[in-house]
Parts: sequence; C-alpha cells; structure tokens
Amino acid sequence: MSSIIADILRSANSIVQGHLVTIREFFQKPVTEQYPDERLPRMEGYRGHPTLLVEPETGRPKCTACGACARACPNNAIELEGMKAEDGRRLPAKYRLDMTRCLVCNLCVEACPFDALAMSREYELVSWDREGLILDMPDLLRAGAKEQGLTYPLPVKAPVVEKEGEKA
Ligand code: SF4
Ligand code: SF4
Repeated sequence: MSSIIADILRSANSIVQGHLVTIREFFQKPVTEQYPDERLPRMEGYRGHPTLLVEPETGRPKCTACGACARACPNNAIELEGMKAEDGRRLPAKYRLDMTRCLVCNLCVEACPFDALAMSREYELVSWDREGLILDMPDLLRAGAKEQGLTYPLPVKAPVVEKEGEKA
C-alpha cells in the first residue's frame, strides 16, 4: 500500500515539475528568428559557393582559364573553356559550376594561381530544379563582385593594347 502511495506522489511530483518548466519557458523571451525578415550573423569562416573575382580596373574576370581549379576539384564540379582576348590575354569563354556536385571544399580557391576565385558568404542556395543549381559565368562574376563590394557588371573600359614599339 505504501509503495502505491509513493508511486502516486512521485508521478504527481513529475507532473508538477513538468508544468513548472512549461510555465517558466512561457515567460522567457522567444529565441525564434523571423527568417527571412531577420537573419542571424554568419559564423566567421562560413563558406558558400565558389565565385569568380573581377578586376576592378577593367571589369573583366581575373581568371585566365588555366584550368587549375577544374583539375583540383575532387568532384568535377567545374567546367570551363578559354579564349584569347584582343589584347592577347587569356580569359574564360565559358565557366560553369555545378552546385549539385560542389562540396564547398575550397580546393579550387586554393589551387588558383591568380587569386581569381573566392568562396562566397551566400547561404540561400535553393532551387526548385537541378538547372537552378548550375551557375554560369555571369552568376559567378556577379557573386564574386558582391564579395569584393562591387556591382557586376562593372563599367568595362577598353582593354589596353600595346602597339609595337609603344610602351605604356
Ligand atoms: S569548392 Fe570543392 S567541390 Fe566545389 S568546385 Fe571548388 S573544388 Fe570543386
Ligand atoms: S585556377 Fe583560377 S585562373 Fe585558372 S581557370 Fe580556375 S579560376 Fe581561372
């Protein structure tokens, strides 16, 4: 009989304790963030997707289409083709990043010998379909310029072409 009474008291105590927790939390300030109206600050070192950086002076990509990033990518997420600009400089004609494959590992950025890539701080990488996660050169340049505090496209100046016997 005494053990039954002890059980009842223990259960009643648990119920009271549970309710006390609920009542205490009820009067606490809510911690819910009202995303997207409210956004938490991103952690130091947060990495979004790779982006292509631009030369602020010319508005052109810093990329020389050397392909080192594509070779360094462990998941074949980068596809690119190069071309020769009128001033003889190599530029990317096509640069595609497949975010369905990207591991956000930063290896492409580390491999780039021209500091032409940087990881973005972007975190809203959502799409209704697969195609929406394929980022083309304008997307990557726009994102890169944003990381640099610039707006893409930049006002593009004519490339400097050195004529024979003429030095800048
Ligand atoms: S971050 Fe990693 S997985 Fe993504 S493109 Fe660069 S090297 Fe490839
Ligand atoms: S490694 Fe750098 S310069 Fe070479 S293709 Fe990639 S982004 Fe362009």
